[in-house]
Amino acid sequence: MPKELLLQVTPEIAANENLLKSYLSKQIKVSSNEIQHISILKRSIDARQKAVKINLKVLVFFQGDAFSESLFQLPDYKEVSNAPEVIVVGAGPAGLFAALQLIELGLKPIVIERGKDVRGRRRDLKAINVDHIVNEDSNYCFGEGGAGTYSDGKLYTRSKKRGDVDRILQLLVAFGATPDILVDAHPHIGTNKLPQIIQDIRTKIIEYGGQVLFETRVVDIIVKNNEVQGVVTQNGTIIEAKKLILATGHSARDIFELLDRKKIIIEAKPFALGVRAEHPQSLIDSIQYSCDFRGEFLPPAPYSIVKQVNGRGMYSFCMCPGGVIAPCATSPGEVVTNGWSPSKRDQATANSGIVVELKLEDFKPFAKFGALAGMEFQKAIEQKAWHLAGETQKVPAQRLVDFTQNKVSSSIPKTSYVPGTTSVELGEVFPGFLTQIMREGFVQFGKSMKGYYTNDAILHAPESRTSSPVRIPRDNETLQHLQIKGLYPCGEGAGFAGGIISAAIDGEKCALKCAESF
Ligand code: FAD
Repeated sequence: MPKELLLQVTPEIAANENLLKSYLSKQIKVSSNEIQHISILKRSIDARQKAVKINLKVLVFFQGDAFSESLFQLPDYKEVSNAPEVIVVGAGPAGLFAALQLIELGLKPIVIERGKDVRGRRRDLKAINVDHIVNEDSNYCFGEGGAGTYSDGKLYTRSKKRGDVDRILQLLVAFGATPDILVDAHPHIGTNKLPQIIQDIRTKIIEYGGQVLFETRVVDIIVKNNEVQGVVTQNGTIIEAKKLILATGHSARDIFELLDRKKIIIEAKPFALGVRAEHPQSLIDSIQYSCDFRGEFLPPAPYSIVKQVNGRGMYSFCMCPGGVIAPCATSPGEVVTNGWSPSKRDQATANSGIVVELKLEDFKPFAKFGALAGMEFQKAIEQKAWHLAGETQKVPAQRLVDFTQNKVSSSIPKTSYVPGTTSVELGEVFPGFLTQIMREGFVQFGKSMKGYYTNDAILHAPESRTSSPVRIPRDNETLQHLQIKGLYPCGEGAGFAGGIISAAIDGEKCALKCAESF
C-alpha cells in the first residue's frame, strides 16, 4: 500500500529524485529497489534554522502498488456558438476564467478587451521601456491576460477556500503550467511562461464558440429601466446582451468615471501605496537563509515583512525574488512601478512593493471627487512623481538610508528599472504623513531583517496600483450590482479580488451566478 510521509530533508536531497529515494529507503528500512515512485504532495522551505531544510509531504508507492501519473483534464466544455450570450469586459484572469466557466455552463461569452493579444502587447511594452511612450490601451496592465500576464505569476492567495484555489491551479496546469504549482507552498509561474498559457486559454474559448475581441474598448454601458442592455465600443459599435460581467481591473479609470457619470453607484475604497524597494538578491538570500552564499539547491529567497507604524500597517507587497521593476503606467503623464520575475527568478536583484495602508480620511483633500477621491489621490502622486523625475518614464529614486535621513542621494546606481531613475528626495512625492511612516518603518524593517536597512537598497516611487481605489458594490447573494440588473462587477477592479488567483476565482463565481439568473 502507498505510504504518506512527512519529511524534512536538505535542499540537495529534495532536488534529486535518486537521493530522495535512498534517503527514504533508509528512513523506512526498505531497499531502494522496492520503491516504485515518490509523489511529492506538498513542498515548503523551512529557513528558521541555521541550516535551511525542505519540508516535504510525500506519497511513496512500492513495487506492486497501483500507480499512474494523474494528469489534469480540462472540464467538459460545451459548444456555445448559438447559446445565450454574456458580455465579459476585460481579458484579465477574472474575465478569462469567467469566460471558461460560462462555456462549461453552456453560455456564450463575448470577451471584449481594450488591449492587444499577448504578442502585439510586447511591442508596446518595449515602447514604454525604451521610448518612454505609454499606450493607453496596451501596457503592463492592459491587454490579453490583464495585469497578470507580465508578472511574477505568484499564485498564492489569502483565500481560505482551498477547493476554489486548487481548481484554478489545476486548470492552469491543464493549460500548460508546471505541475509544481500544485505542491509548492508559494507557487509561481513567471513572465516567460504566462503568455503561452493565456494564449491557450483564449484559443480554447474560441474553439468552443466563444468570441474574443481585442483592441476594443468599452466606452458606455447601455442601461434601460435599471437593467443592462449592452455596451458601446470606442468606434460606436453596439454589442447587445442583458448580462455583463465587468472585469476591467484596478487601473480602468475611465470605467470608474463612466459609472460615476451615469450615477451607477460606486464607492471609494482604501488601498495601499508606497515605493518599490530593490536590494541585491544575494543580500536577501544571506538574510533569509542565514548564509554567505545560497548554493545551487535553494531558490532565490523571497521575503515578507509587516510592521505597525503610527497605527498603520506598512508591509511588503508582491515581492519578486530575482526580478525586475516594471513601468506600469496606463496613461502618459504619470509613472507607476510594479515587479515581475522570469520562471527561474534568476535576475541579480530582488524587488518588493513596500506600502502603507491608506484610510478613507486620507482622501479628504480630494473630497470633491466623491467616490473617485481615492483614485484622484493615487493619480496626483503618480503625476507628481512623473514631473519630479523629468516627465518621461524615469522614476524618482533614492537610496534607502538617505530616504530615512531626508538626504538626496548623490548617486543612484543602475537598477533593474529599464527606463531609468532620477535622484529625488522621495519626501517630495508623498504626503508628509506617508513619508514619516515609511521613514520609521524602514528603520524597523532593518531591526527584523539584519542587513535590509542599507544604502545599497534603492527605492523607486511610486508603488500605487496595489488594489482598486474604488469598489463597485454588488449583492452578496446574486453578485449583481446593487442597482443595475444584469451587471456583475467582478475581479480586482470591482474590489472583490487582489491577485491572479482570487481574480480568477471571482470570475468563476460571477459566471456561475450569471448562469443561474437565466
Ligand atoms: P486585470 O488583470 O487588471 O484585467 C482587466 C482587463 O480589463 C485588462 O486586460 C484591461 O485591458 C481590460 N479593460 C480595462 N478597461 C477596459 C475597457 N473599457 N474595455 C475593454 N477592456 C478593458 N498578482 C498576483 O497574484 N501575483 C503576481 O505575481 C502579480 N504580479 C503582478 C505584476 C505586475 C507587473 C502587475 C501589473 C500586477 C501583478 N499582480 C500579481 C496583480 C494581478 O495581475 C491582478 O491582481 C490581476 O490581474 C487582477 O485580475 P483582473 O482580471 O481582476 O483585472
